[in-house]
Amino acid sequence: MRTKAGDRKKGHDDGLFKTKGRVSLRALFSGLVILTFVMTLVITLFASYRSEQQLLEERTLEANFRESERVGHGMNLLFVSISKSLTAFAGEFAEMAVLRVSSETQDELRLLYDSGGYFAEVFVAGTDGKLTATYEGGRQGGKAMDIDPALMSEALGAKLQFQSPPYRDVHGGMAVMVTEPIFAEEGAYLGIVGGVLHLEAPNLLGGLFGENQIDASGSYCYIVDAEGRLVYHPDQDRTGEDVSGNPAVAHLLQGHSGQEKLINTEGKRYLVGYAYVPATRWGIVVQTPTSLITAQQLEQMRGTLLVVLGPFLILAASALFLARRLAAPFVSLADFVVRAADRPQDEAMPSVRRHWNREADLLNRAVMRTVREMKRQNRDLNDFALKDPLTGLLNRRALDEILEKMEGDNRPFALLLIDIDRFKSVNDRHGHSAGDAVLRGVARTLEETVGNRELCGRYGGEEFMVLLPGYNLPETYEMAERLRLAVAAHENELRIPVTLSIGGAVSPLQSTRIDDLFELADRALYRAKESGRDRVVV
Ligand code: GH3
Ligand code: MG
Ligand code: MG
Repeated sequence: MRTKAGDRKKGHDDGLFKTKGRVSLRALFSGLVILTFVMTLVITLFASYRSEQQLLEERTLEANFRESERVGHGMNLLFVSISKSLTAFAGEFAEMAVLRVSSETQDELRLLYDSGGYFAEVFVAGTDGKLTATYEGGRQGGKAMDIDPALMSEALGAKLQFQSPPYRDVHGGMAVMVTEPIFAEEGAYLGIVGGVLHLEAPNLLGGLFGENQIDASGSYCYIVDAEGRLVYHPDQDRTGEDVSGNPAVAHLLQGHSGQEKLINTEGKRYLVGYAYVPATRWGIVVQTPTSLITAQQLEQMRGTLLVVLGPFLILAASALFLARRLAAPFVSLADFVVRAADRPQDEAMPSVRRHWNREADLLNRAVMRTVREMKRQNRDLNDFALKDPLTGLLNRRALDEILEKMEGDNRPFALLLIDIDRFKSVNDRHGHSAGDAVLRGVARTLEETVGNRELCGRYGGEEFMVLLPGYNLPETYEMAERLRLAVAAHENELRIPVTLSIGGAVSPLQSTRIDDLFELADRALYRAKESGRDRVVV
């Protein structure tokens, strides 16, 4: 017992029931609501993020592909027109039959230089590889250009239109040499006419790409030659680098155009559009780093979140409020049942408010009714166990319990044993039911004569007991007399005279033990009977 009581104190202050480690309905509801909302928000944002990402990627791929085609187309046109003009000028030189340094040759070269505006320098060379004439914008006359002799002999040997691979010229820039053979009308090979293009020149690639090498969306363009080396890249230091390992470049080298998502030679993810340029066999690549799209999207999502969060919080708060309201009846019901179980003797029924939720309301009322019924049954059982059915006074068992308690409490009290005189003759003369009526009448008179603090009980057949808390001897005697006189004065329905013999004992004056007091009172009663009945002996 002792350890149990100790245990109870250690737990939460929940009376009979410990709820440590149990989740409350309110917390459960609130948790559920919050979880649902957060999950919904996350899933919605994630779904919109994914679908938007797909859309953005598709659009970017498409845009990059178009841009690469546009640039590729421009470049193709440029080189086709270069080749056409070279062919035309080769025809002019063919008419001369012999290539030599002359003002005519010089004029032709100047015309060629000015015609397209894309050459950095133009020249005419004989079959021996010696430059006959050169022109490089304003400065005239036979100044030898730094053309690699090997390149020159390759161009001469080709006897066809020749385009060199991109190379780094003496100034460190990327250049391309384009030449056209010159055949005299009778068929003799005279030499070549050609020009050098500086790729970084603003009039060339700059014209194709426009002002910005990297546009607002972070996309940029680069060009690879037929061997997969970088001809042009916004990062100039990378020019000449071999990027043939890049999947898009690999496709370009096979003459394909297209678009794809890929990881480049530096390990970064890109959305790539690429176009093959037939005139040069180069490839144009336009790409956007995926990280830029992600950053863009995150920015967008933050905006979305800001817009959505307000209504979302309001919604969540309402749901939370509703959840708590829904939980409330169960909480108060649980509290009520715990209280009822805690103090089953309590007569007072705490009321539980009616609830707007049908089930909660039904449950409330059903539980209330059950508890009320249980209390009523409890009360009936109590009455049955402790009350005498004939008179409604306390029965012997109740009296014994009370006496025991009084003895334990060590408080002063007096005890009266009351016996109806010659009651047998009442039964004999008037019948048993008349006897019962007399018993009821005596019981009522006794009850009415004692006060609220005093207790009346039927101890046996026609014997009663009265307990007088705090009474001393004279007070006890006085009360006994009052009872005797009251019963004697009371006229019952049958007009049968009834008298009482009363014996009393007082605690602690005579004894504090119940058995002794009982014995003393019984003896006093006996003496009252002996000495003629209808009297009190204390
Ligand atoms: P005295 O006490 O004066 O000596 O005489 P008495 O006749 O009252 O005593 P006794 O003990 O001989 O008789 C008691 C009678 O009480 C016996 C019984 O018939 C009657 N009695 C006991 N219980 C009841 C009851 O519940 N109803 C009725 N009608 N009579 C009862
Ligand atoms: Mg008797
Ligand atoms: Mg009697």
